[in-house]
Amino acid sequence: MCNYSFENLLPVDENGYYGEFGGSYIPEPLKVRLEEVNKAFRHYINDMEFLNEFEDLLHNYAGRPSPLFLAKKLSERYGAQIYLKREDLNHTGAHKINNALGLGLLAKRMGKRKIIAETGAGQHGVAAATVAALLDLECVVYMGAEDVARQQPNVMRMKMLGAKVMPVDAGNATLNNAVDAALSAWVADEEAFYLIGSAVGPHPFPEIVARFQSVISFEVKKQLEKLIGRNNPDYVIASIGGGSNAAGAFYHFINDERVKLVAVEAAGKGVGTGESAASITEGQTGVLHGSRTKVLANADGSVKEAYSISAGLDYPGIGPLQSYLAENGRTQVLVADDKEALDAAFLLAEEEGIIPALESSHALAALKKIKFEADDIVVVNLSGRGDKDMGTYMKYMIED
Ligand SMILES: *Cc1c(COP(=O)(O)O)cnc(C)c1O
Repeated sequence: MCNYSFENLLPVDENGYYGEFGGSYIPEPLKVRLEEVNKAFRHYINDMEFLNEFEDLLHNYAGRPSPLFLAKKLSERYGAQIYLKREDLNHTGAHKINNALGLGLLAKRMGKRKIIAETGAGQHGVAAATVAALLDLECVVYMGAEDVARQQPNVMRMKMLGAKVMPVDAGNATLNNAVDAALSAWVADEEAFYLIGSAVGPHPFPEIVARFQSVISFEVKKQLEKLIGRNNPDYVIASIGGGSNAAGAFYHFINDERVKLVAVEAAGKGVGTGESAASITEGQTGVLHGSRTKVLANADGSVKEAYSISAGLDYPGIGPLQSYLAENGRTQVLVADDKEALDAAFLLAEEEGIIPALESSHALAALKKIKFEADDIVVVNLSGRGDKDMGTYMKYMIED
């Protein structure tokens, strides 16, 4: 018996629209592939054998349920009951493995032999390569040539896990171009499955990723019930890059208006400096990677390079669900800049003995920006661990 519930609680229609956002803006040849994924997903998400296998891997391979930890010193500092959802303790160090396992199992059930993935900093590439090794699937990861040069440890991890890393030279040779290359490779290869890394892209990917990541908030409900006898918090706070850890942390609370949902974008060097990744705060509605959503754009309408100290938030768009929730006031959108995220990371390390990922540090940085009541129950989604960011943290320690 699968204990998780993957029922659809999203404000999405059958064409993948969240209000005016979402949909599927793709070339004709991709439609066949997406239709096939959509059909398989609708079938297997109700298939007990599939769900049992997914749950077994989440528990015994990824290490779920991840703990919900009451951070006493942070609680004292900010004047509320602050709990950390410890996604940093998952295998491979972040929430990304939840979705990678779900999609990998789906690929397997569909009879695919090969996984195609894109990666920026390499975190999703590593999760995809991990699952491909586990499930005996071939794995090809597209990565901008610039990123390949910058992210050698993750490139080597992917290779050790048996994946092939394909450097992409087009454009500015970063994530944006890697996504395009991965999609083209998928069109050309019937035996491949596109294992997307966040709640972005054309329908049905944003919905599938959100539903697989929903295990996060499902567990939070159970854990709070046990800890405090109440199954909903006053606040859930999560960082947003593409929006998948936020989707998972918000999921089972989206329709519970008593729970305040806070999404934290990376402001990079600051809102208004032209160097940020704050797609909701500074972006406009446009189409990016097959989905109508909030996008950072130049004056001529072309997609603008995003910047953040955190590679996982450095994306010029945001999934359609997050655009919708923000536009309708269901989420409060805050920003944290590079410096605020760094300070929050060092504070957590010193106060609670946890070195967080830089992405997660943006969520932590929002704590000082909210006015809490003393008995407020606050859940911060600690999306990942900071090992991968030690280079950046070391640089900051030397400069200080
Ligand atoms: C990739 C990543 C993110 C950002 O991606 P989302 O899809 O927005 O969750 C956040 N935290 C960590 C640790 C990541 O690796």
